[in-house]
Amino acid sequence: MTADSPDESTVACGRDAVISKFRKRFNCHPDFVSIAPGRVNLIGGHVDYNAGLVLPVAVDCHTFVAGAKNDEAGVLAIHSIRENESFVIDLACPVVPAQPNWTNYVRGVVHGFLTRGIELPGLKILIDSTIPSGSGLSSSASLEVAVAGILELAGGVVLEGNEKPRLCQLAEHQFANVPCGIMDQFTVTFAQPGCMMLLDCRNESIEHVPFNHDQLAVAVINTHVRHELSEGEYASRRQRCETVSKTLGLESLRDLTWSMLDRVSDQLDELSVSCAEHVLRENERTLAFVQYMKNEEWARAGEMLYQSHTSLSEKFQVSCAELDELVESARKLGRERGVLGARMTGAGFGGSVIVLVEREKASDVVSGIVETYNEIGAALSRPRASGFIAEPTGGAQVIKFDID
Ligand code: ADP
Ligand code: MG
Repeated sequence: MTADSPDESTVACGRDAVISKFRKRFNCHPDFVSIAPGRVNLIGGHVDYNAGLVLPVAVDCHTFVAGAKNDEAGVLAIHSIRENESFVIDLACPVVPAQPNWTNYVRGVVHGFLTRGIELPGLKILIDSTIPSGSGLSSSASLEVAVAGILELAGGVVLEGNEKPRLCQLAEHQFANVPCGIMDQFTVTFAQPGCMMLLDCRNESIEHVPFNHDQLAVAVINTHVRHELSEGEYASRRQRCETVSKTLGLESLRDLTWSMLDRVSDQLDELSVSCAEHVLRENERTLAFVQYMKNEEWARAGEMLYQSHTSLSEKFQVSCAELDELVESARKLGRERGVLGARMTGAGFGGSVIVLVEREKASDVVSGIVETYNEIGAALSRPRASGFIAEPTGGAQVIKFDID
């Protein structure tokens, strides 16, 4: 990335904004700023918790966290601009989940540091963000990893290798009660600028695959819809995948083959079988997509995205009318208008779709899809969709100021 790339200037803007908001709130300059991106998953839907193959990119919207040592030892004073809410963690007391829920993403990370015996000083912390939350862009993992970055600097430690994303994942499991896979925290931590990240969730190996930025763009269209059933249904799909694995004595669905599934399918309910079918094919599609992108066979790559969406909608059954409508609308615009493929991204039942599109036609495609959706939606009293072009960006970073 060049020094004056759009991505660097977006980050610099957000960094300056969080510093100024911090100064206003706490009347001092922060000692550190920690910045973590959001992410979208290009392909590999609902396979991360099945030890599968996923292909996320970190995107250029971020959580910005500023921190300074607190005069009051043993106390963390934390404020989120988004939530317009503050809370305090007393380091002398056990850190446990509490309300409001957003604080648990922070509490869980603090807990992870303390259980490793890392001593933390008193801190003032301010959280700012340009990631729309709950839209499938993983604002939660971004928040966790950004907070972890501040605590590393404040505690004078560096969590090596996979320890930081693992700590953050555990925070999400134990404190926010979300049984997420490793994809989000790994992407937010390790992504490289301009690259897609092929992550094998079984052995946690990573291959950074250049995204052809000159010719292609990823558009993210956000429905701003989140259906009530999303959490329960996510847990139920996970449960079904585990049941299939257990029935076959497998560690995960990554080890599943078509003949194994044939053997046990009459012992399983229909949805469990079709979930397993999705996982099998989706892993194949992720690898195929990467190969097509490397070969610059864009239309074939795009076809993998459409197939992934159909499978998530029909077999895994985690889509919804709004997501299906957006993917259909992208498909209708077609190759002529520069659209190569589209699919829902994230957990489903709302959130966003991604569209792989020729770069020079990308902004027309985004406005075309969003306008059509919003025109239809006007009569349906549903939230208006919005869209943007997501530039593949790098993972989390920290800045330490030398202030006397
Ligand atoms: P996603 O990760 O796709 O954005 P999640 O439901 O997993 O959606 O996480 C969103 C939640 O993370 C929010 O509801 C909030 O609790 C927390 N969160 C994310 N960003 C912030 C922020 N800037 N300030 C406070 N809480 C945040
Ligand atoms: Mg999340």
